[in-house]
Amino acid sequence: MTVADCLFCRIVAGEIPATVVAETERTLAFRDIAPKAPTHVLVIPKEHYADVATLAVGDFALAGEVLATVADVAAAEGLDGTGFRVIFNTGASVGQTVFHAHAHVLGGVDMDGDLT
Ligand code: ADP
Repeated sequence: MTVADCLFCRIVAGEIPATVVAETERTLAFRDIAPKAPTHVLVIPKEHYADVATLAVGDFALAGEVLATVADVAAAEGLDGTGFRVIFNTGASVGQTVFHAHAHVLGGVDMDGDLT
């Protein structure tokens, strides 16, 4: 399903440009427009799900494919040895602003001691 006014659906459709770093049949990875770390990549299912909880219930295999792409991106960015952080903001109260499920892949900076 595609949602017409969804920012990330529009990126999948090629209507809004993005710096794509990885793509599979059902997932897409692109650089965050406002990076909060030297590596800050977003990994999404191409199909629209509002958040990771909805994705996991709606298509468990696709949730796994998103995580596999996360791992591929981390390796391609050279983070598999040093470590990286994966965040799925789920709900406006924790800061989700784009309601199309996405994993933030963050790395390249010391995050030891930060929240979780
Ligand atoms: P938050 O804005 O609090 O990080 P989200 O977890 O919903 O909330 O993350 C949305 C992310 O999408 C933000 O990190 C934001 O910088 C990024 N973003 C917004 N527009 C674009 C865009 N056109 N291309 C790439 N990333 C984008």
